[in-house]
Amino acid sequence: MSTSVNINGVEFQPRLLINGEFVEASDKGTFNVFNPATGEISCKVPEATEDDTNRAVAAAKAAQPAWAALDPTKRGAYLKKLAALIREHKSTLHHLEAISMGVPVNHFFHADFGADEFDYFAQAWPHIQGQSSVNTPGYVTMTFRQPFGVVACIIPWNAPLYLFAAKAAAALITGNTVVLKSSEKAPLAVAYAAELVARAGFPPGVFNILSGHGLPSGRCLARHMDVRAISFTGSSRTGKLIQEEAAKTNLKSVTLELGGKSPAIIFDDANIEQALTDTMSSILLNAGQICVANSRVYVQKSVAPKFIEAFTKRIATIHGGNPLDPQTQMGPQADEVQYKNILSYIEEGKKSGKLAVGGKGRLDETKGYFVEPTVFLDTPEDAKIMKEEIFGPVLNINTFETEEEVVAKANDTEYGLWAAVFTNNLSRAMRMAKALESGYVSINCSSPSMGRDLPFGGYKGSGQGREGRLHSMNHFLEVKSVIIKLDEKASSQWNM
Ligand code: NAD
Repeated sequence: MSTSVNINGVEFQPRLLINGEFVEASDKGTFNVFNPATGEISCKVPEATEDDTNRAVAAAKAAQPAWAALDPTKRGAYLKKLAALIREHKSTLHHLEAISMGVPVNHFFHADFGADEFDYFAQAWPHIQGQSSVNTPGYVTMTFRQPFGVVACIIPWNAPLYLFAAKAAAALITGNTVVLKSSEKAPLAVAYAAELVARAGFPPGVFNILSGHGLPSGRCLARHMDVRAISFTGSSRTGKLIQEEAAKTNLKSVTLELGGKSPAIIFDDANIEQALTDTMSSILLNAGQICVANSRVYVQKSVAPKFIEAFTKRIATIHGGNPLDPQTQMGPQADEVQYKNILSYIEEGKKSGKLAVGGKGRLDETKGYFVEPTVFLDTPEDAKIMKEEIFGPVLNINTFETEEEVVAKANDTEYGLWAAVFTNNLSRAMRMAKALESGYVSINCSSPSMGRDLPFGGYKGSGQGREGRLHSMNHFLEVKSVIIKLDEKASSQWNM
């Protein structure tokens, strides 16, 4: 069995990037990555040990003072070079994502988005600014924004390359050094990006990249005494564990971007055709494996029959296919665990709601982890599939009569990542935007139509902190207050 991947005749062997060197795991341990469309092994990938993780953190710690002291335009130049290399190797990166987590090559935007992040942050250093004031008589006061030191980034599998870039670029330009761990389900494109990091010429230790599971390497980062900030994207369950490790060790600063159970609300005055297209795309993109997918759709009763008939008819025509085929719109689920998990939710759903479309897995027929797009109607609000994140192409459509009723239903969740509202009544749109307990509200569009420079993050159990362009930089900068006495005679309330 081959341990490497062959891409157009070129062999690629994933390795760990520690202190500027490519290495195997210290105990030579590896894990298998499977192609979810075929069930075949795509590649063997190093499983970083605690020793490897400690060495990566030590390298980052040693490299950090010189990196922070470097002229920020020079830090930016490394980021810019990496952005160009990611663009140049886009098709390889597409291929690797397709054979590890099943995203169709023609839907792949992560490389472009990732390159954009490195380009953006390469120029963002002028925003590393403190404040000053003369509001204290006899004194000048100011704040400095300075790096934390060593930062850990832990990313999930559903948008690996984009999150790799968005987190690392913000951390690096602000003068931190980075240890990034990819997800065990989708480590290939990030491992290839590590090769590009080396080619971009980053000084040794500045940007270290590990592959492996939550245990041991992820947990080791979360509890490491020399990691001063951690930026995590993943499930709410793991987010809580990371918060706990941070609290038990050095109270490192923690940013959490977690799961969702996002509502989309369609009023009878909306453009129903547009609402249908948007809500269907939101739940099918990445085979439903998107944190902001609108998995609960509420339609006003007067238009519900028309909406449901058209929605169920159209979604029944969508079938998953080989992600390497440029015609494929929807790929398989990321792996066997995801597949089984989604099917068990569907079985739960059959007990609580009315199955309108789909409801089956297609493993026997295809050998891949394909799940039929599935729609449930009239599911009780307290049913498990209305409360928990399924992370698959499974949608609940319920109905409502009044604005008050639907706000109460939409907010009756421990999540709060995204809410979409479709209406042509401006006042109502703004009332809804105000009332919904959600970090993001979209009007007359659904996720993932994002504003480029808006903060992104969750209310309630969907996270802590906000990411996105300049907002991300705040997570990687400490604030130091500095006070200078101007006048020997300046009063001090503390003088004895
Ligand atoms: P996950 O929590 O299982 O894993 C995420 C990462 O955490 C992986 O790298 C994993 O190895 C690591 N990890 C696991 N256990 C750990 C531990 N004990 N300590 C440290 N690290 C550990 O999540 P996933 O299945 O990879 O991703 C899907 C989840 O991510 C969904 O809930 C989705 O909604 C969420 N997500 C959120 C956003 C957002 O921006 N809010 C974006 C993408 C995905």
